[in-house]
Amino acid sequence: MRGLRDHLIARISEGGPITLADYMATCLMHPEYGYYATRDPFGATGDFITAPEISQMFGEVIGLCLAQCWLDQGAPDRFALAEAGPGRGTLMVDILRATKGVPGFHAAAHLHLIETSATLREIQSKTIARSDITWHARADTLPDLPLYLVANEFFDALPIRQFERDGEAWRERLIGLKEGQLAFGLGGPTSLAQLAHRLADTKPGDLVETCAEAEASLAVIGARIQTHGGAALIIDYGDWRSLGDTFQALEGHATADPLANPGGADLSAHVDFEALAKAAAPAAYTRLTPQGVFLERLGITQRAQALARNLDGEALENHITAHRRLTEPAEMGTLFKVLGLYPETAAPPPGLET
Ligand code: SAH
Repeated sequence: MRGLRDHLIARISEGGPITLADYMATCLMHPEYGYYATRDPFGATGDFITAPEISQMFGEVIGLCLAQCWLDQGAPDRFALAEAGPGRGTLMVDILRATKGVPGFHAAAHLHLIETSATLREIQSKTIARSDITWHARADTLPDLPLYLVANEFFDALPIRQFERDGEAWRERLIGLKEGQLAFGLGGPTSLAQLAHRLADTKPGDLVETCAEAEASLAVIGARIQTHGGAALIIDYGDWRSLGDTFQALEGHATADPLANPGGADLSAHVDFEALAKAAAPAAYTRLTPQGVFLERLGITQRAQALARNLDGEALENHITAHRRLTEPAEMGTLFKVLGLYPETAAPPPGLET
């Protein structure tokens, strides 16, 4: 077998066209050839760079936000400090450093990471360097404890399905074969109860996306938070409601054809935040807030100024650029958004509003 393309072509020849979700999950997480399963894709030499890799300030303000939620909810003496899709582990390291000075927080925290890639688990164990980390493949095995969780660019990596509206029905966009090569096609029209609410805001020909895995993990996270207390910060690109094709491939910091290099490119889709917020019920959710606004409200500029006092020359230039990249509307400030989850009876996380 010559890699993932041949594997996919063989599967489709035998079993017929596959869903985008099936394609995405295979390309990202196939144990032998999957994108995340085989490499560390982050940073200047990788395919993309994420907020925690841009500056330590991102994780620091998020750490303090979670610690404030914990204090506001009475500082429970045992809780899960969790991250979904920790990548290199940089965000968690920054969270832990920033919260060292919060009395009792570290002693009460038990670290739980949701990660499927064995390669990245290995990197995370080295970066975070704590003996008490528990890894999970999915959210459902998280402990029955108050849950303080962050997920940055995690939900965009979960497998989506796409449906094109045809009259009052929907046709699924599938991946099949055309002249022996991978190609997009459409399945037959079916009426879908789960998309009934989208008949009101779409017209024939429009495309919508769903992500069953994201909804399933939000159901677990929401239930834990509502029952035991806690909070979740979900940070990603996307909008309140998805409309149109957002399935994309990134390779070497440039967009690529998602079918061109299976397992060799990062695949992602915009996050449909309304579906995530609703799946987390009965936990309450905040208004979807631009990342730049959220970070400013939490004091990133004061933190940037404090760090700048010890820098000069190129290091200072880089620091100023990093602050801009995280917050400015033309950079990551508006494209990325933050959704908070919290117990119905508690206050929303600092920086977010209802
Ligand atoms: N949060 C990090 C990395 C984002 S990349 C950062 O901001 O830098 C997505 C992360 O989610 C990777 O660690 C990847 O291995 C993990 N991941 C992707 N799909 C997953 C799945 N289905 N289950 C668990 N982890 C997944």
